[in-house]
Amino acid sequence: MNHPLDLNHAVEIAPHIWWVGHRLPGDPFQCHAYLIEWGEASVLLDPGSTLTFSETLRKIQEVVPLSHIRTIICHHQDPDITAILPHLDGLITRPDVQILSHWRTNTLLKHLGLQRLPLVCVEQQGWQLDLGGRILRFVFTPYLHFPGAFCTFDVTSGTLFSSDLFGGLAMDSPLFAQDESCFEGIRTFHEHYMPSQDILSHGLGNLEKLPIQQIAPQHGSIIPSHLVSFVINRLKELDCGLFLLTKTNSDYQRLSQLSRMLREMVQTIMVNRDFSEVVSRLLVLGKQVLPVMTMEFYSLMATGLPLHLAPETGFHGVRCQPPESCRALLGQYRHQGAELKEGAACLLIPRRADPAQPSAVVQELVLPLVSSQNHQVRALAILHLTEKVTLTEELYHVLSQLSLPLGVAVERESMLRVMDEERHHAYERSVRDALTGLYNRHYMQDALSRLCRVHDRDPDAAIVVASFDVDHFKSVNDTYGHAMGDTVLRSVAQLLIHGCRSVDLPVRLGGEEFVLFIIGATSEIALNIAERIRLQVSQLVFEAPMQERTITVSCGVAFRKVQEPIEDVMERADRALYKAKLTGRNRVITEREL
Ligand code: GH3
Ligand code: MG
Ligand code: MG
Repeated sequence: MNHPLDLNHAVEIAPHIWWVGHRLPGDPFQCHAYLIEWGEASVLLDPGSTLTFSETLRKIQEVVPLSHIRTIICHHQDPDITAILPHLDGLITRPDVQILSHWRTNTLLKHLGLQRLPLVCVEQQGWQLDLGGRILRFVFTPYLHFPGAFCTFDVTSGTLFSSDLFGGLAMDSPLFAQDESCFEGIRTFHEHYMPSQDILSHGLGNLEKLPIQQIAPQHGSIIPSHLVSFVINRLKELDCGLFLLTKTNSDYQRLSQLSRMLREMVQTIMVNRDFSEVVSRLLVLGKQVLPVMTMEFYSLMATGLPLHLAPETGFHGVRCQPPESCRALLGQYRHQGAELKEGAACLLIPRRADPAQPSAVVQELVLPLVSSQNHQVRALAILHLTEKVTLTEELYHVLSQLSLPLGVAVERESMLRVMDEERHHAYERSVRDALTGLYNRHYMQDALSRLCRVHDRDPDAAIVVASFDVDHFKSVNDTYGHAMGDTVLRSVAQLLIHGCRSVDLPVRLGGEEFVLFIIGATSEIALNIAERIRLQVSQLVFEAPMQERTITVSCGVAFRKVQEPIEDVMERADRALYKAKLTGRNRVITEREL
């Protein structure tokens, strides 16, 4: 609508269809009456109350004389639409006039004691009314909000007169809904007014089959075609019928808001797979009830320290203990249905001022996340608050509702983290030698094929092979025992690990034979590395009884040529090593000296 509507007059909302209601100032519960102008078969729908009577009558007569009205449809019996009937009873005098409603409504309307206007049941009309060239179909929507509730569908214009369904509750709602924000009013109206989601879905299912062009409800705004399916879909997922059952005396709008928030939180937790995404969505929602800035979590693990999921590590999970102030909570068992109360289960801890790290956080709220199976506190959520809060009943409600799904999300994330840890350990076990922690042969093959490909493309990514073998190692075993031999192997391996760079590849080939692949280094640097390791081994000092024994290694070095099979280079390194052994051991020999 580009121009403002003049609601002091009848408004044509589709060809031949008129809004003839009257707006009561300051009333969020506006009741609309509609008129289908169809000559002497004109129809008045949900005519109204004594409060709007004179205005509605005036507007009807702007469109048609009262005598043209043959049918008055009453979608239900509430006084806001039927209190006008006794007045019309004396005003419409034509003999064939009728009030059309469901039999369940008519059993009540009879108590108005109407003299002239006969009560006719829609179901006896075959759920249809033929105006002569215009068909109205009646659609049963039982229990929405009344056992005999139904809607009227004008086939010609595609207008659905939906009565209470799609009604909105809002101050100053426009006659035509503008955008999706109209759903707020519809939500609050339906949540407390419609009996249950199942019944609502059933009714909506009946209506959905119709080619609806616009919805003209009795309350709120008329819904234009571009919003029809949006509103129907949102209603299909609405929880309703809950609010009059709540024990507190809070008004339903606040409860509605709270319930919606909780629902969104649960949905966020269940739908989002990425934990940091869950947390950032929860923060947005949480800010509606709490001055919360960030959240972190501690989760109890089957083995080892608790897992700490915090924003500073991107919620990646680090093993550490929770702060002293709440550590005792983790792992406790809770009585079933125990209340969340400050000091008992839900802690408020003042954040100590740290001059080194000024922060806006003044208080922390610790929320225990309890397992539904054994009532153990499996995790803690710590909410960092920027203002001090008092734990009201309402907040307890939100927090206790939140703790179960949040607990599930934290537990799920912790399991994923543990699986990650285990995967990493298993991988490490499969690529590393158990005694020394060096890479094993298996991994060496894998890594070398990659490194050779890189070297073939880029001659600067050179591969130098340094083969090491412990001198007279057999005699260590023979003299000091196998365990001491192992210690020597571990010590030599540590020098290899620390003596090379992160890009290099230290491998235990087996026994006391090691090989170090030095990557991307000049031959000079590579020889320096090999020589340094040789020297460091010779300086190793062992515990008694080996304190007097010096360990040395011999080393052979070879340089890979581009495109050369790695086995060939290793073979040359072995020959250099053999020469080192032959020429006195404890030395580095390169292939150039062969
Ligand atoms: P060389 O200077 O010529 O290399 O003499 P060596 O005694 O070091 O060489 P040899 O190959 O004769 O002996 C290697 C010994 O290493 C034999 C084997 O029992 C021992 N060995 C192999 N693997 C292990 C191990 O894992 N732990 C221990 N303690 N000894 C091992
Ligand atoms: Mg050997
Ligand atoms: Mg040896």
